[in-house]
Amino acid sequence: MPTYLTIDLGGTKIATGFVTLDDVGGTPVVEDLRTIPTEAARGGDDILRRLAALAADRVRERDGLAGVGIGSAGVVADGTIIAATDLIPRWTGQRVADALAEATGLGVGMVNDVVAHGLGEAHHGAGRGHACILSIGVGTGIGGALIEDGHPVTGAHAVAGHIGHIAHGLGRGVRCSCGTDCGHIEPVASGTGLAALYNLMKDDATPAVAGGKDVSELAAGGDAFAAEVIARSARALGEALGGAVNLLDPDVVVVSGSVAESGALWWDALRAGFADSAMALTRAIPLLPGELGGAAPLIGAAVAAAQVIGEHACPQHPSIASI
Ligand SMILES: [Zn+2]
Repeated sequence: MPTYLTIDLGGTKIATGFVTLDDVGGTPVVEDLRTIPTEAARGGDDILRRLAALAADRVRERDGLAGVGIGSAGVVADGTIIAATDLIPRWTGQRVADALAEATGLGVGMVNDVVAHGLGEAHHGAGRGHACILSIGVGTGIGGALIEDGHPVTGAHAVAGHIGHIAHGLGRGVRCSCGTDCGHIEPVASGTGLAALYNLMKDDATPAVAGGKDVSELAAGGDAFAAEVIARSARALGEALGGAVNLLDPDVVVVSGSVAESGALWWDALRAGFADSAMALTRAIPLLPGELGGAAPLIGAAVAAAQVIGEHACPQHPSIASI
């Protein structure tokens, strides 16, 4: 069974681990996790230098690795970051797969981090056994990936799946991380968005909250206003998801992320909004909680590596590719 060095690179941390994929469909084994801070403010060149050093270090820990898989923040095409937000300055343009191949001497499979999460859930989590999976992650932001016949659908500009940036009226006038205030769903339905919505809807006498977790804790403690904000936010996301399934018609939708772990109030409102927005034939599409938790991006990165290396690579001639 092949073992891969896998990497999940986000705005705050770079997680690494060894993932062994079971060829006959057993649960992947994730071992020896090691995480370093991204220190995003130091910029793309510095991050890539430390990432390559970490990868070189880690491949010395294991003999017989089959390759390297990475899911990275930013829009990924051909092993390069072709766009990234200000969260990681000068990350755009970094040739990450080249640097990792050079540092490790191994073939590299590279995808966006949200795509890696979707690949993990599609192959080894809540989506396994289905042909077409829409995976959505609701955390600090909202990301998505469409996985069809085991491979990500990336679109003409590698942007497909950005479900946080579809329109919903509840977001009108609220600035989105992509820069628009025309009404995207992310700024009112992500964890950050939950707090923004709470602060927008509250009266002057109610203290402001700092994050989505505060809203969840207030609601769990019986605060009716916080519960109403969560219901409004989740319902709007459900309506947006209903629109997405009407467009894409997946077998299942897998919903992961910290906000998706906030309980029945959130899920009930999400499902109610979804049922109202989905068409008769798409209304029955199941919304399933993710099964792999934080391991999903690492497992998905291993899948990405297996797909690239299985299709193109030879151990003597490391391939540099993305899918
Ligand atoms: Zn947006």
